Amino acid sequence: MIHLQDVTKTYRSAGGGEVDAIRDITLDVRKGEIYGIIGHSGAGKSTLIRCMNLLERPTRGTVKVGEVLLTDLGERGLQRERRKIGMIFQHFNLLSSVTVRDNIAFPLKLAGQKKPAIARRVDELLTLVGLQAHGDKFPSQLSGGQKQRVGIARALAADPEVLLCDEATSALDPQTTNSILSLLMDINEKLGLTIVLITHEMGVIRSICDRVAVMDAGTIVEFGNVLDVFLKPSHPVTRQFVDEMSDLSDGAPLRTRDNSRLIRLHFVGEETYQPVLFEALKGSPVQCAILQGTVSRMKHTPYGQLLVELSGGGPGEADAVIESLRASGLDVEVLPE
Ligand code: ADP
Repeated sequence: MIHLQDVTKTYRSAGGGEVDAIRDITLDVRKGEIYGIIGHSGAGKSTLIRCMNLLERPTRGTVKVGEVLLTDLGERGLQRERRKIGMIFQHFNLLSSVTVRDNIAFPLKLAGQKKPAIARRVDELLTLVGLQAHGDKFPSQLSGGQKQRVGIARALAADPEVLLCDEATSALDPQTTNSILSLLMDINEKLGLTIVLITHEMGVIRSICDRVAVMDAGTIVEFGNVLDVFLKPSHPVTRQFVDEMSDLSDGAPLRTRDNSRLIRLHFVGEETYQPVLFEALKGSPVQCAILQGTVSRMKHTPYGQLLVELSGGGPGEADAVIESLRASGLDVEVLPE
């Protein structure tokens, strides 16, 4: 749905030098997916997402959305194509002097639609984002979450195929963030809309994204399915994001017994619900102590980690338990002693 090929954006810096905000980025976003781009501040996320609708024109490289090569278009053609690409922003960017209805109607008026059609469409959108009762209010009378709902309704007004979200939940508290993320997921599923979002928060990626790209210093350092990337991170920046999210990285020293083995079990999907530990220890003299653990969810997939100490039993018996856990399909990491 979106294809970026070797995209570079170079800015002139204050001192007269040049800086590549993003460099040689090639990226594919599939139709109907929610694609997340995560990175620390200054990584180039904002520049990248703004290159997708040519709010920033790349210095080099091409941008294609649907079948249209945006980088080949002039301003008129771009204006037409941008109607198929909605965008929402961290600070909502609403018009403060007009009502919610008029904010949502704005792109439809620009497109020259007639009043009755606009009124009907605005009603539909207010219902879609759960703001039926708030159409005649002004933005200043709304909470942050409600303002972002207006932003979403406005972005969807012209029935776009793609929605770009520029740190859309960064100004919101955690509970409101969750409600906005649920709304985005709902819209994605109901309308089949392709969504690209940028964020510095792992929670956002984990809750709703199908695929993710991790950015650092203007490049994509790792990308793939969210589960694959975050369960087996290979780049240090990805690992940092995973650690920030994980309760297992509190740094507290672990108290273990002499001659024990420390293992970390990774569960994904169905395995999370199976009594695998109980089965592996059945009939074995090896004892197990659970030292730390989490069970969580990435979008619709449950996953978890357990840090377990195996002790007791004769030579090789802890190894037999580890083998049995592996045989049941678990990913078992034996930690250094
Ligand atoms: P992020 O969104 O990940 O915080 P940005 O895309 O905003 O990153 O910025 C990437 C880099 O490009 C930063 O070093 C930033 O200072 C630089 N940059 C971004 N916009 C401009 C600009 N308009 N002029 C000069 N440098 C810029």
